[in-house]
Amino acid sequence: MEFISTRDTAKKVSSAQAIVQGISEEGGLFVPCGFPEISLEDLDRMTGMPYPQRAEYILSRFLTDFTPEELHSCVTAAYNEENFDTRYIAPTVKLSDTTYLLELWHGPTSAFKDIALQLLPRLMTVSAQKVTDGKKIVILVATSGDTGKAALEGFKDVPNTEIIVFYPQKGVSPMQKLQMVSQEGSNVHVCGIDGNFDDAQSGVKQIFTGGMKELLASRGMMYSSANSINWGRLAPQIVYYFSSYCDLLAAEEIALGDKVNFVVPTGNFGNILAAYYAKKMGLPVGRLICASNSNRVLTDFFSTGSYDRNREFYVTESPSMDILISSNLERLLFDLYDGDSQAVAGLMEKLKTQGTYQVSPAVKAKAEELFWGGSCDDRQTKETIYKYFEKYGYLMDTHTAVAMKVYEDYAAQSGDDTKTVVASTANPYKFSGSVLEAVRGSSTREGDEFALVERLHQSTFCPVPENLACLKDKAVRFEEQCSKDGLEDYVKGVLEL
Ligand SMILES: *Cc1c(COP(=O)(O)O)cnc(C)c1O
Repeated sequence: MEFISTRDTAKKVSSAQAIVQGISEEGGLFVPCGFPEISLEDLDRMTGMPYPQRAEYILSRFLTDFTPEELHSCVTAAYNEENFDTRYIAPTVKLSDTTYLLELWHGPTSAFKDIALQLLPRLMTVSAQKVTDGKKIVILVATSGDTGKAALEGFKDVPNTEIIVFYPQKGVSPMQKLQMVSQEGSNVHVCGIDGNFDDAQSGVKQIFTGGMKELLASRGMMYSSANSINWGRLAPQIVYYFSSYCDLLAAEEIALGDKVNFVVPTGNFGNILAAYYAKKMGLPVGRLICASNSNRVLTDFFSTGSYDRNREFYVTESPSMDILISSNLERLLFDLYDGDSQAVAGLMEKLKTQGTYQVSPAVKAKAEELFWGGSCDDRQTKETIYKYFEKYGYLMDTHTAVAMKVYEDYAAQSGDDTKTVVASTANPYKFSGSVLEAVRGSSTREGDEFALVERLHQSTFCPVPENLACLKDKAVRFEEQCSKDGLEDYVKGVLEL
């Protein structure tokens, strides 16, 4: 299958090239030329398979220049009980007769990013053998907290790669920061920036499309991306929506062909875009519910058709969603504009120069039919964590709570009683301070992060993931910082350019 750029459909590349390159030269994102169809019979067949096999089944339709053996070895090396604490990889648990949680945080860094980032380095290594004639791949990552650690963990000590992560100094949770600055591995680099996630993402995109490429090539290196702008990140995320549906079928919670809604806590629009792609491929999905925190740029977009990043930026209790430029929305727009890359390029130019754009009434109508957008502030987030812990004994993290609250609002407003799966994107101990405040009411955040973990454990008896507990004994390796205009210099320093 070939891939084209959302800003220039004349640019066609193979799946291996799309993964290695990460982003198209002119700044567009790669999308498949067509989407494979998964029939109800296929779904029925997948229901009998374990997760890795489901992944192979879906991914083989996209990654057509991988041999079945290559794909099999990538998938089995990523999805196993050494990397994940359950053989179901991404289990769906039942909360009530209408509500389920798709737990995406059973991997090595306790956030949903692991599902894609355990696989991506393996896909990239195979792809690189096919298309880069031995160049070293330099992975640049901008993170709002979870991608950084998951990418570091995925790429550490992968031969012929170097990984550089930029995170917003004041915009990640203490646990997220500890996870990154203590990262082990000989090819890893971590730098805090004096700015927010959008600054980090813009800075990285600028390096990708800027003039350093030739210099890098002359040293036998090339850039790639582990952010969800990379197709190799999105494809593995499509799998778990199919898998969740299969699990509901297997548990006889639904019948083959029944529609299911998905609610996704959203930042860069990657995770929910994967759900949309699953629907497009034939998964029986009703509404896609897009949940934002107080940075409600997407909520407003779905209700007005106008995307406007010119607004106050809030640092919230759900930091991985503190984003005002949702990159992957570009891929949705490409579809809604029926593949008109000039229209998309025009909107993205407006976003860059004016910070805002307006879609056509026809496109707004299409978006509204597919999606429902809602938002939830920090107070409501904590109330939701408390409520579900009291009522169901289920402890959720702040991001998942945003999704749960927005789902409640959706159900109340629409009266839709379709069975609904809420994506649970992080383990609550990644945000112990906030979650503890939510379940204990007025308790303060005194003490270090591990004291908070311990108190949360004492208050809830929920198990602490091993990977977080053992951070306590790890040394800090990275203390570098740079200004938001200093990313390129930092990269040059690391690569000795
Ligand atoms: C990254 C992240 C999100 C947002 O996902 P997007 O793909 O950026 O929309 C939500 N929750 C958590 C815990 C995350 O790490």
